[in-house]
Amino acid sequence: MESQFVCSDCSLLHTGKTKMSFLGFRNFHCSLCGSKNTRPLSTTYRVIYVLAIVFFLFCGTTMLLAGRIPIPGILAVAAVWALIHDNKLIKRARESASGAGGGQAGQAGQGVHREVT
Ligand SMILES: [Zn+2]
Repeated sequence: MESQFVCSDCSLLHTGKTKMSFLGFRNFHCSLCGSKNTRPLSTTYRVIYVLAIVFFLFCGTTMLLAGRIPIPGILAVAAVWALIHDNKLIKRARESASGAGGGQAGQAGQGVHREVT
């Protein structure tokens, strides 16, 4: 899948493939400045992680009510970490978009990207 992205460092518009990380973040290296850019999660991944956390909270509450001590698994910790990291990326993108003053960099900073087929 090819997409268009704007580098957060040099604001160069890229068209190309991105690499998907284990947790669903899309990464690409800028060909001009060489910096590694990480895009926020897609809505699908965000919903999956929120549902996973709700499920783990339900299981943990059930275990507490049964008198056992719940221990969060690696998936629960990964889901929480992914959402926290995603929140940081969105916040950083908003800050760079407000600093850029709109245009293409502003659109990319708000997480908007166009899919090229
Ligand atoms: Zn760059």
